[in-house]
Amino acid sequence: MDVYGLLGSPVEHSLSPAMHEAGYEAAGIDARYVTCEPEGGAAGVAAAAQLDFDGLNVTVPFKQDVLSAVEPTPRAARVGAVNTVDFSTTPPTGANTDVAGVRRAFDHAGVSLDGVDAVVVGAGGAGRAATAALAESAASVHVANRTVERAETLVDEFRTAFDGAPDGGDGPPATLSAGGLAGLTDAVPDADVLVNATSVGMESDETPVGAELLHADLAVLDAVYTPLETRLLREAAAAGAETVDGAWMLLFQGVEAFELWTEQDAPVDAMNEALRAGLEE
Ligand code: NAP
Repeated sequence: MDVYGLLGSPVEHSLSPAMHEAGYEAAGIDARYVTCEPEGGAAGVAAAAQLDFDGLNVTVPFKQDVLSAVEPTPRAARVGAVNTVDFSTTPPTGANTDVAGVRRAFDHAGVSLDGVDAVVVGAGGAGRAATAALAESAASVHVANRTVERAETLVDEFRTAFDGAPDGGDGPPATLSAGGLAGLTDAVPDADVLVNATSVGMESDETPVGAELLHADLAVLDAVYTPLETRLLREAAAAGAETVDGAWMLLFQGVEAFELWTEQDAPVDAMNEALRAGLEE
């Protein structure tokens, strides 16, 4: 039997076990997926290696900490965070499937990120993943954050990490800028893509982006997935925008990890059903 797990703290309410185990069952793979709350990320990876785990997901607060215990993929190194560990290599490989989760969530909705004008609100973990997905698509990305310095730091780091064309060819590189939340008034009306990567909308029916800025040419991803229909997505839909809820991002980071570990296409529908059933509980 294969064994996979999630390192993080807290993880007791995680939907990843249900999502991944639904995937194993649909794919006929004999495997279990467990949650672990280690003292530290690197120590957790070492313990999982000793216990013969096949793969790990990594969540808050260990995504940076595990970097020292793995060989990061180029993408994980650029983003500076690992959320998936693959023990089939020595040393274990550290990947970042949050970035693919953002791109595949938009793909699923029929939205291409290639060369778009984008606004990312938030500069924490989700903001980094969204900005990286967009930078890999040579997008023009404006990162707006409540704490302006945090957005500036992210953009400074990513300007170096994403220097040159995303595919290493002669195409245009991504264009990155940073600012505070007040700058949304100018940036959102001209944008093709908007990502809410803040936690605003989770605790209460609030939105980080005023309804008057939303428009029909916009595709909006809200990383928040509790509730699934946030005020931002409700108001975006009312403005005629394409909307993508946070469960799609969560699903596709899991799908990408499943495919990395098992080297086969993930049963996306079964994983999506289990995830959404868990979110409804
Ligand atoms: P994080 O690293 O702690 O970052 C939180 C972000 O939210 C920061 O940019 C912070 O701004 C901003 N923020 C918090 N409260 C705010 C407020 N009242 N007004 C304006 N901005 C505020 O968290 P994270 O891991 O990026 O997660 C952010 C959200 O994305 C959470 O809801 C999380 O559940 C969700 N998420 C979803 C997925 C998915 O797969 N769908 C994956 C990861 C995260 P400051 O820098 O100014 O504090």
